[in-house]
Amino acid sequence: MCNACFNDKKLKTKNIFTVEYTDSIITIKNVSCLKCAICGEIFFTDKVSEKIELIVNANKRLKNEISILDYNLDEIR
Ligand SMILES: [Zn+2]
Repeated sequence: MCNACFNDKKLKTKNIFTVEYTDSIITIKNVSCLKCAICGEIFFTDKVSEKIELIVNANKRLKNEISILDYNLDEIR
């Protein structure tokens, strides 16, 4: 259910996920997600959230100021 408008209609789509730290920005493209058909709120499943976390943690170690990654690439694991 949508946390914003409490509707049940959701669409499968892809979205960009960005996280900002004090010294870096990590952006992940093509992240699988669900989008509320009514208000457009974006949701990530637990499985997707876990992968995002892995990608972000792996990337933090690289200490790039700006990183743009693709969700579908597994090379950084
Ligand atoms: Zn909604």
